[in-house]
Amino acid sequence: MRLSFLGAARQVTGSKFWLQTPAGNVLVDCGLYQGQEHPRVQNNLDLNIGPADIKWVLLTHAHIDHSGLIPRLYKLGFRGQVVTTAATADLCELMLLDSAHIQEEDAKFDLKKWRRYGRPGPPPQPLHTVQDVQQCLQTFQPVAYDEKIQLAPGLVVRFRDAGHILGSASIEVWLTEGDQEHKIVFSGDIGSPNRPILRDPQPPPEADFVVIESTSGDRRHKPRAESVTRLRNIIRTTIKRRGHVLIPAFAVGRTQEVLFELADFIRAGDIPQIPVFVDSPMAVEATEIFRRHPECFDQEMNQLIQSDQSPFRFPGLQIVRTREESMRINDFRKPCIIISASGMCTGGRIRHHLRHHLGHRQDTLLFVGYQAAGTLGREILDGAKRVQIFPRETHRVRCKVESLDGFSAHADQAGLLAWLERVASNTPDVFVVHGEEQAAFALSKAIVDRLGLRVHVPEVFDSYDLLDTVSLQTRAFHSPAIT
Ligand SMILES: [Zn+2]
Repeated sequence: MRLSFLGAARQVTGSKFWLQTPAGNVLVDCGLYQGQEHPRVQNNLDLNIGPADIKWVLLTHAHIDHSGLIPRLYKLGFRGQVVTTAATADLCELMLLDSAHIQEEDAKFDLKKWRRYGRPGPPPQPLHTVQDVQQCLQTFQPVAYDEKIQLAPGLVVRFRDAGHILGSASIEVWLTEGDQEHKIVFSGDIGSPNRPILRDPQPPPEADFVVIESTSGDRRHKPRAESVTRLRNIIRTTIKRRGHVLIPAFAVGRTQEVLFELADFIRAGDIPQIPVFVDSPMAVEATEIFRRHPECFDQEMNQLIQSDQSPFRFPGLQIVRTREESMRINDFRKPCIIISASGMCTGGRIRHHLRHHLGHRQDTLLFVGYQAAGTLGREILDGAKRVQIFPRETHRVRCKVESLDGFSAHADQAGLLAWLERVASNTPDVFVVHGEEQAAFALSKAIVDRLGLRVHVPEVFDSYDLLDTVSLQTRAFHSPAIT
């Protein structure tokens, strides 16, 4: 029984945990690296794990840093099953196809450069293609939440709601070796409690080993209610100025959450009934997928739908599909709200809207998600007065720029500890993953101090024999200096 960390170890992307068991090899998540440093090399999956020898991929959720290399795994010979929830399977179709289009475009661009610069080395290839995605989707095996499923004798799994995005799960794995049973829990990404639409995370009852994420392990989020109040006030003041509110939002998750709050404001009369445009083909499709999966909704959301008050259908909501419809929004002079992707303004239709609105003092650009360093969103948020949206075009930033941070899809340190406390009834060994070093160490220290558990902070390619207690003891985390 060996557990190896092939990605998302002291970093946040590329989730891949390889579990070698007597019943067969299991890969938990198969995510794409999305960092700045050599992602192409890391994403080649040259990991000596033998894709053909993997029988199951257990997939926690559809985000590309967890699912994005499944098509490549398939291309390299994987012919097992991808076991995941039905909603994750549907979202993967949307997100993996989108990612394959990007891979193909990137490869075309690299190929041009390769030809221009004297053909050094082999010609660049996309990591995987749309065709690879279509084929790998055939291997997806949807399962329900909370049902124990025997994958093979001695190997049982169960998916529990992780409250992170639609379909997201923590996965319990029971392994029998000889007459002993061991249970490993993979947290996946854990959501914050009390968010709309989705249920709160449901921690499994106990475990012998826990692999827990630490994305926000060193943070404390602002209370959500505070951000919702600010959202309402920002919209009100922009309407008073007769301006537009432009919201860059991730197509899956954040867009639907913002719609939930806007529907509530409009129905309660907290803001006037103005047009709300959702202008992102992917967000429109993702919203359709949300509609198809009421089994993932919390009680409040189900009650809203039963009383015909779905946040995905409210007065003023306008779904924009074609480019022509999208361009027509620019002619709209009265106050309105425009939600568009991408969330960090790096691509998609949001850029066309930025071009029209950045220069208008009466408009507001409102960020509701994290803006990574090096993105256009971050540049504007950091106060740039002039930005380049398209090549050879610079634009003055005169509009109001606002940011809300209470919409995070990741639990903060308190949320992670509360989740772990519920799992930790029989004092498991804990592996802290999926966080930058600072976040991973901060969470590890808090786990040791507050819960008294034995903690490990693996590096990429670290491998553990889970039954070797002496080795586990000697490799345990000893609190480094944390600044
Ligand atoms: Zn995620």
